[in-house]
Amino acid sequence: MPGSFKTEAVVLRSIRFGEADRVLHLYSARRGRIGAVAKGVRRVRSRFGGRLEPLSRVDLVLHEGRGELCTVTQADTVDAHAGIKTRRASLERGVQACEAVLRLFDSQEPNGPAYNLLCRELSLLDTDPAAACRSQALAFRLKLLLAAGFVPELAACATCGEREHLGAFSAGAGGVVCAGCEAGSFPLDAEAHTFLVDALARPLAEAPGAPESALRQADRAIAETLEHHAHVTLRRVA
Ligand SMILES: [Zn+2]
Repeated sequence: MPGSFKTEAVVLRSIRFGEADRVLHLYSARRGRIGAVAKGVRRVRSRFGGRLEPLSRVDLVLHEGRGELCTVTQADTVDAHAGIKTRRASLERGVQACEAVLRLFDSQEPNGPAYNLLCRELSLLDTDPAAACRSQALAFRLKLLLAAGFVPELAACATCGEREHLGAFSAGAGGVVCAGCEAGSFPLDAEAHTFLVDALARPLAEAPGAPESALRQADRAIAETLEHHAHVTLRRVA
């Protein structure tokens, strides 16, 4: 049904289109993923100004026609996250966060937890330079898995339910596994296991730290879970 609707959204990606337009990949609060055209946005006197830059959180009015893409008719800034763009490390993490949402959430079904998580991550990267670190990026990715419904089993062996001797991880089995169910797994140290459990339990702003080796194992566990269950391959964080 053609018509206009309002939603808040984050600009995940922006691609040049035609003479002066851009196609925007949006993740919205009310409609999940949206593709939209911002007409004339590359003109100096565009009525949108710089409000539709990637990583920006905006209030939008969109017109839905017969085609696949909506048209942006109004845009107001909720948070431009200008601080992210002043620091290379923060910018890289911000782009990575948007990329993960872009790859993992392509449905038009809204996902409130995923949208709120992305907004919190961008806000943290914007206000706290120290948030642009591996452990924080991994905590975000793990919480994103939870929002997508792919969180790995961490409390007991994913194959047999054993609660002790959980020294390995298997994406195929769906989480940590015990010594007797190790087939197809890789070693997961206690520190990496603890990191995964704490990163899920704590708020994003209080992501735990861990030694490099543990972060690399946690990264692998998250990446293999994404590949196995969501068929999504993301660049490693650590
Ligand atoms: Zn087992």
